[in-house]
Amino acid sequence: MGKTKIKIDYKKCGPDGKMDPRECRKCLNVCDPAVFLMHPTLEEHPDPYNPEKWVVTPVWPDVCTSCGKCVSSCPVEAIKVSPGESLYKMRMHG
Ligand code: SF4
Ligand code: SF4
Repeated sequence: MGKTKIKIDYKKCGPDGKMDPRECRKCLNVCDPAVFLMHPTLEEHPDPYNPEKWVVTPVWPDVCTSCGKCVSSCPVEAIKVSPGESLYKMRMHG
């Protein structure tokens, strides 16, 4: 079994999508182990103190419990979780 994989469709949520993560934040709010991080993109910014382009990144998929709350709470179906090995499962099962 591979590791848990979490993908965000940035065409749905992100600077080019219809959803701005700063106005939603649902995945960040529902995820108990705090897998996601919201941050400005690494692209050049006209003003580094007022970055315009923000995305959500699943930076810590290893702690994902595959609860599915982020998937069901995302209003634009931008999140896909492929459950696999995670620290949570290793702790529970072995
Ligand atoms: S499936 Fe659950 S634990 Fe995993 S990223 Fe989504 S909300 Fe967090
Ligand atoms: S729940 Fe979906 S739309 Fe909302 S910030 Fe997370 S990925 Fe973006």
